[in-house]
Amino acid sequence: ANSLLANTGTTIFTVMSALAVRHQAINLGQGFPDTEGPADVVAAAAAALQDGRNQYPPLTGVPELRQAVAAANQRFYGLDIDADREVVVTSGATEAITASLMALIDPGDEVVLIEPLYDTYLPVVKLLGGVPKLVRLAPPEWELPRAELAAAFGPKTKAILLNSPMNPIGKVFSAEELGFIASLLEQHDAYAVCDEVYEHLVFDGLRHIPLMTLPGMRERCLRIGSAGKTFSLTGWKVGYITGPAALMGVVAKAHQNLTFTTAPNLQRAVALGLAKDDAYFAGLSADLQAQRDHLVTGLTAAGFKTLPSGGSYFVLADYAALDSDGDDAAFCMKLAERAGVVAIPLSAFYAGEKPRHHVRFAFCKQTHVLDEAITRLTRYF
Ligand code: PMP
Ligand code: GLN
Repeated sequence: ANSLLANTGTTIFTVMSALAVRHQAINLGQGFPDTEGPADVVAAAAAALQDGRNQYPPLTGVPELRQAVAAANQRFYGLDIDADREVVVTSGATEAITASLMALIDPGDEVVLIEPLYDTYLPVVKLLGGVPKLVRLAPPEWELPRAELAAAFGPKTKAILLNSPMNPIGKVFSAEELGFIASLLEQHDAYAVCDEVYEHLVFDGLRHIPLMTLPGMRERCLRIGSAGKTFSLTGWKVGYITGPAALMGVVAKAHQNLTFTTAPNLQRAVALGLAKDDAYFAGLSADLQAQRDHLVTGLTAAGFKTLPSGGSYFVLADYAALDSDGDDAAFCMKLAERAGVVAIPLSAFYAGEKPRHHVRFAFCKQTHVLDEAITRLTRYF
C-alpha cells in the first residue's frame, strides 16, 4: 500500500463526529450547518433529477453553472472570467484543491503552506511529490510572519496554498497581507491556490478580498469556491475553480483524471443559487455572525477565552483557565465524555510543534443547539 496513505489517520472531523454519536454529545466539531440550505436551490436539484438530463455532463461543468460562476466573480469582485475557458466545476473544494495542485506541481517543486492548515493540504502536496514548506501563524494574534514567509520562498517554489477566510482560526487576510504575498509570487514567479470556500461567510463588516483581484495576480491564482459552504449544503460536494485560461486547461486534465464530472442536477441547482439576490448573501453572513456571537457569549460565561473570528464557521477558545492537565486532544476527549460537547483540538491543524490549550468550536448550528451546548459546558466547569 502507499505508505503515506497507510500512515494517514482517519480525519479528525470523522473521528470527532463518531465520538459525538457515541456519547450523545452536542457536535460543535465538524463544520456543517444543522439546517437545510435554501429551499429553492434544493427544489431545483430535485426537479433537475426528473427532467431527463442525468447522463455525464460536460467535463468542465454544465454551461449554466460555469456562466453563473463567471457572473458571480464579476458581481462580487469585478473579475472578468471566461465561462468557457476559465472555470472548472469539481466534486467539492476538496477535489478542487487536489486538481489545482496537480495542475501546478511537478515532483520536487516546493509548496508554501501556512499552519494551522486544513487536513487535506499536507497529504495531497506530499502525494503529488511536492515538498511542503511550512510557515506558522501563532495564537493569539495570528499575524503573518513576513520574514519567515519570505524565507520559505526560493528558486524551487511553485506555489502557495492560501486559505482565506481561514479554517480553523477565522482569519480574514488583509489587503496589506495579500499584497505582501503577491509581491513574493511575482518575485519568485510562483502561483497561488486560493482556498476561498468561506468567501461569503465574513463578519463584522470585514471584506473578503480574493488574492486574484490584486495587480498582477489574475494570471497567478487558482481561486476555489464551494457550494457546500455558500448554500449550507455541505453534502453536495460541488466546488468550482476559476483561473487563467492557460492554466485551466491543465486543471481540466487533472479533473478529467480524478472524477471527470460532477452530478449535473446539483450543478444546475447551484447555478440558480449563485444568482440569488444580495439579501441572501447578506443574510447568510448576518445569521452566522449572530450564531458566533451567541456561542462566544456562552463560552465566555463558561470560562473560556475566545479569540476573534472574522469569518468561516469556527471560533477558537483558549481553555487554559479551565483545565491544565493533558493536551488539547485529551481535553476534547474529556469534553465529549464528561461535558457532552464535541470540539476539535487546534493541534489537529498543525504538522509541526503543537500549540496547546486551544479548541475549535463550530457555531453553524441552531440557537437551541448552541444553548444546550452552553448549558452543558457551564454545568461541567
Ligand atoms: N477547504 C476548507 C478550508 C474547508 O474548511 C473545507 C470544508 N470542510 C473544504 C476545503 C472542503 O470543501 P468541500 O466540502 O466543498 O469539498
Ligand atoms: N471542513 C470541515 C471542517 O473543517 C470538515 C470537512 C470534513 O469532514 N472533511 O470541519
